[in-house]
Amino acid sequence: MNENHEVKDLRTNISFFKKEVKKFVEDRNWNQYHTPKNLVQAINCEAGELSQLLLFKDYTMEEILNNKELLSYISDEIADVFIYLISLINALDLDLSQIFIKKMEKNKKKYSSKEFNNGIYYKK
Ligand SMILES: [Mg+2]
Repeated sequence: MNENHEVKDLRTNISFFKKEVKKFVEDRNWNQYHTPKNLVQAINCEAGELSQLLLFKDYTMEEILNNKELLSYISDEIADVFIYLISLINALDLDLSQIFIKKMEKNKKKYSSKEFNNGIYYKK
């Protein structure tokens, strides 16, 4: 990856992430390990590492945002989850934009804003 600190969400598209992860995996000959099963388990492991950072703690949002070290650890684990997720998307040759749009449409129907408009997070 380039040491490009100008990479920002507003100017980055999904294909950038897919290419970066693909090259990282190929350069290390790790494709053989990046099976769907292994990648799903790796996503869970990294999500566990993220969860562990907050386990038995009741940080407020403000406390997290003001704790640079914790925020850095959280950011690293978010990136790990995302990287493995991108690798799974690559392995299955999925188009993230398509599956995102399709699932968001399902979610909008399942949790219509008409029914879920007052903070309720479950169906009665
Ligand atoms: Mg990690």
